[in-house]
Amino acid sequence: MSGFVFNEKPIQIERGDGAYVYGDNGTEYLDMGASYACVPLGHGHPAVQDAVTEQFEKLTYVQASYPNAQRTALYELLADTAPDPIDKTWLCNSGTEANEAALKFARSATGNSKIVATMQGFHGRTMGALATTWKNKYKKPYEPLIGDVEFVPYDDAEALDEAVDEDTAAFIVEPVQGEGGINPASAGYLDAAREITEDAGAALVFDEVQTGMGRTGALWNSQRANVTPDMITSAKGLGNGFPVGATLCRDWIAENYGSHASTFSGGPVISAAAGATVSTIAEDDVPENAAAMGEYLQTELAAAIGDEVRDIRGEGLMIGVEVGRGANKALKQLALNHGILALPAGRTVVRLLPPLTIDEAHADEVVEAMAEVVG
Ligand SMILES: *Cc1c(COP(=O)(O)O)cnc(C)c1O
Repeated sequence: MSGFVFNEKPIQIERGDGAYVYGDNGTEYLDMGASYACVPLGHGHPAVQDAVTEQFEKLTYVQASYPNAQRTALYELLADTAPDPIDKTWLCNSGTEANEAALKFARSATGNSKIVATMQGFHGRTMGALATTWKNKYKKPYEPLIGDVEFVPYDDAEALDEAVDEDTAAFIVEPVQGEGGINPASAGYLDAAREITEDAGAALVFDEVQTGMGRTGALWNSQRANVTPDMITSAKGLGNGFPVGATLCRDWIAENYGSHASTFSGGPVISAAAGATVSTIAEDDVPENAAAMGEYLQTELAAAIGDEVRDIRGEGLMIGVEVGRGANKALKQLALNHGILALPAGRTVVRLLPPLTIDEAHADEVVEAMAEVVG
């Protein structure tokens, strides 16, 4: 028997500590991808380890219809830290499930079916979320998907205004596109999206699966952009490596969500992991560090390789370096010659999503390696 979905890399990872992971032969790697932004606090953060260990010894699992202190505390923490008036939470196990729920809730709460999504957008791989994902490669083998999805160019308020109408249930959008190449929305686009959806009575959904948890310089990018949607979806970094997703909603959505559930919603161990992650990010000013380190990294990269690459862009510690067709080759060299693990975003972009706790020395290490690899 063997796995078949993943194309495995020639490096076996067995241990992690802070911003570093270690191969089975002891080789050290600076983890500049954090396995797709999943460990914002770095590997083995004591606050998360302790919370999980303590809860694991008490109770591993109880169904979500029995209140449990860990889950209740997480609901309260998310309500306190989300932008007002978002204060209701649906917990699940992944990003695609969080978006799947958001699409269902929007249809139920509005009574409409049409979903507007963006070109180059990525929202997950279950059938509903997949239908709102742009890339044909991900969709083609599984068609027909749910109908009634219209794609608009990203960052184009006029096109959005034309697409959203009285039959629209939701507009789903990443405040900074991740998988699509690290594309930040320009000033005014998210404001326009708020106004357009509100006028049409449609739900505005920010997919913050990648931008959330402090990555772009605020706990939620919504707060940084100063635009409050009707739903925020989260996963990836939410449990600092434990599988958890959330759909955060305003009351009008929560009151008419329809009928939805999942067996593993908000188990106590997972809730303990997410609770420790969110509270540590907030208490340790982790988003501030992400903003400062992101700026430092972008500035240093621009100075070192600005002339060599097509573009360097991003927000906070969500950075894309557009190197052209050689992105995969650059990633391989970074890993094998420099001990740095990074990620692709499409075929042309090297994507950096490190733990948000990195310091200038880590950033310098990356800049030096990038200079050698693309220089
Ligand atoms: C990764 C990602 C998802 C999907 O999350 P999974 O946990 O892999 O299902 C959805 N939206 C965005 C923006 C993502 O980056």
